[in-house]
Amino acid sequence: MIRSPVGWGAVAAPGTRSEELSAARRLLRRLVEMMAAPVSPQERLDRIVRLIAADIVAEVCSVYVQRGGDYLELFATEGLKRSAVHNTRLRVGEGLVGLIAAQGNVINLPDAQSHPAFAYRPETGEEIYHSFMGVPIVRGGRVVGVLVVQNRARRHYSDEEVDALQIVATVFAEMLASGGLIDVTRYPGDLGRIDRPERLEGLRLVEGVALGQAVLHQIRIEVTRLVADDPASEIVRLDEAISSLKASVDQLLLLPEVAEGEHREVLEAYRMFANDAGWRRRMREAIETGLSAEAAVKRVQEQTRLRMAHVADPYLQERLHDLDALAERLLVHLLGGTPHQDPGDLPDEFILVARSITPAELLDYDRSRLKGVILEEGSPTSHAAITARALDIPMLGRVKGALTRIETGDRLALDSEHGQVFVRPSEDVEMAFARSTAAHAERRRMFHALRDQPSVTRDGIRVCLHLNAAFLIDVAHLEICGAEGIGLYRTELAFMVRDHFPDVPAQTELYRRVLQHAGDRPVVFRTLDVGSDKHLPYWTFPAEENPAMGWRAMRMVLDRPMVLRAQLRALIRSHGERPLSLMFPMVAEVAEFEAGRRMLELELGRARERGQPTPASICIGVMLEVPSLYWQLPALLPRIDFLSIGSNDLIQFLFAADRGNPELVDRYDPLSPPVLAFLLDLVERCRAAGVKLSFCGEMASRPLEAMALLGLGVRHLSLAPTAAGPVKAMLRSLPCAPLAPYLRKLSTLPDHSVRARLHHYALDHGVQLLT
Ligand code: PEP
Ligand code: MG
Repeated sequence: MIRSPVGWGAVAAPGTRSEELSAARRLLRRLVEMMAAPVSPQERLDRIVRLIAADIVAEVCSVYVQRGGDYLELFATEGLKRSAVHNTRLRVGEGLVGLIAAQGNVINLPDAQSHPAFAYRPETGEEIYHSFMGVPIVRGGRVVGVLVVQNRARRHYSDEEVDALQIVATVFAEMLASGGLIDVTRYPGDLGRIDRPERLEGLRLVEGVALGQAVLHQIRIEVTRLVADDPASEIVRLDEAISSLKASVDQLLLLPEVAEGEHREVLEAYRMFANDAGWRRRMREAIETGLSAEAAVKRVQEQTRLRMAHVADPYLQERLHDLDALAERLLVHLLGGTPHQDPGDLPDEFILVARSITPAELLDYDRSRLKGVILEEGSPTSHAAITARALDIPMLGRVKGALTRIETGDRLALDSEHGQVFVRPSEDVEMAFARSTAAHAERRRMFHALRDQPSVTRDGIRVCLHLNAAFLIDVAHLEICGAEGIGLYRTELAFMVRDHFPDVPAQTELYRRVLQHAGDRPVVFRTLDVGSDKHLPYWTFPAEENPAMGWRAMRMVLDRPMVLRAQLRALIRSHGERPLSLMFPMVAEVAEFEAGRRMLELELGRARERGQPTPASICIGVMLEVPSLYWQLPALLPRIDFLSIGSNDLIQFLFAADRGNPELVDRYDPLSPPVLAFLLDLVERCRAAGVKLSFCGEMASRPLEAMALLGLGVRHLSLAPTAAGPVKAMLRSLPCAPLAPYLRKLSTLPDHSVRARLHHYALDHGVQLLT
């Protein structure tokens, strides 16, 4: 019988795949049995490498474990010198073992010593071994160790042998994580876990600082049953789980909240992958080698995660993310449980880490315990960021690798103001952070002290500061910061957190409470702006290619007039005789405004007929978000009481740049000549027509941008509650008059951005730009 020098093919007659497979299964079973042996962790590890070496007919089998996140230590060996155990260490990237850890790839060489990365370690006595095969031990997308076999003879290990060792490494990864292989009293915090402090950078979405424990939005499902005796029944389990996964994805595709664009695209990608024969085949093959169905899913998932870490193309990254998320869902179907955290069952102070999040998901978490959010994606004008801002929760977006660098339970110090998060911060950083938190609190006190100071620029120009609100708690900020009223009440957020559409009495009660909280300060209610990324869980939306430009806001409620009429009825009722201010969002043409106004008149007439009280006066406005409306200003302005600029949407349409797309966040600057020229003209037209112009987009909440708006002549700003202090500090230190001619000049430049120039203006004129 010809015996191959290494590999499971050596145990049985070569060439018969089923025998190879049953040998592989035997080894896996024996590995798992060894876990139960009543011996010390080191002894267990020693026995395991001995077993693998014997089974694979390798002269050397060694296991290296990544420690502290940056070096690998030889933890056990069969074949190398015993004295090297716990003495031989290689940095990640150093030697062949370090290279495997850095790149997450298999290295298979007939003559290892001629490889340029080979690092000779005399204490191991490995100079007599020529052939080398090392595979990464991967968990959570990270290499946590390296498993190596070596032989004296120069030979190339076959693909089957590589696969076999990789399957062993999969089991090894789970065994390492479940404990019992490493003495945790001697090596606390190891097992490949990164315990060294790190600093990750990102984009400030909502400013603020926070300290807390990391919680991953998506749960990592643990697999405890690794091997299985009966591959056929595991394949049945896998197939059943895939069928139920497919059925659930199909079901989700029917749901109203996923009827549109982006969300739907992801699910359609899921459906495509769920039907992918290659994905299914890889999992089946892993089962055939002896893994349980869930361990096979994990194995293929870890391979995907490793690829994800090394793929630069954003489209491919995206698809790999989808495949990763699908594997997680498949595990849920195999093992039960839920894919997301139970929002009720979390630490007292935590920071949520996610790839992306919807406003509704964010609202599910207990806001008294949720101290911050870190996203791998996200943009400042996305509705999730607006929701976080409304809740005053610091949010950092576009943090590359957040989900692989941060683990549940890690301590985090989030400083979104400076676009950074300290992961597992050292004591020094914690102390510095505590100082910066104190400075932040001090600044807040300073802003609070401005509460009763007039909103007047240094050269005596009065500015009206209002707040944007979405929840009752935002309205309470009126008292805290002394703003004059609510310039934008986003009614839809209260609809989003319910499980059914609120009827007229429920809406009336809601608006009444908002008015009560506002006292005698005015509130501008914006009618329902759903669609795009704001979904109502109980409503059916059509599938759309471009939901932000799709069936949303005013267009939707004009097609469903009873929805708008119910809201207008509730607004009239809640106000009684109190003056009513309302505005329509996403109006694209005068005809839409007229249609909305006619409905308001119908509802007013109806209330009067019934002898119900009606508002003493009505102020009716329009949000300028859709550029087409600009060319109808001559017809529009005489019809309205005020115009409110919604820059979040307006700028996305001016630049044709999706406000929610993280790739475009830095592409265009609102502080740029085209935007300034557009706004300048708008201000002049409103002034000429005697129509009040206010500004409620997020741009007004940033001091430098707010400074530019004042320079352009805007006098009514509606801000995120936390921005009131910084913007007031800015304007009280601003000599506004000289800024106007300067901005006029800037608006004609060919530049990409005028931010730096405005910054210099602020520095030269002693304007306070604090956040
Ligand atoms: C805007 O578009 O600027 C705006 C205020 O509306 P929203 O952010 O709710 O779309
Ligand atoms: Mg908008």
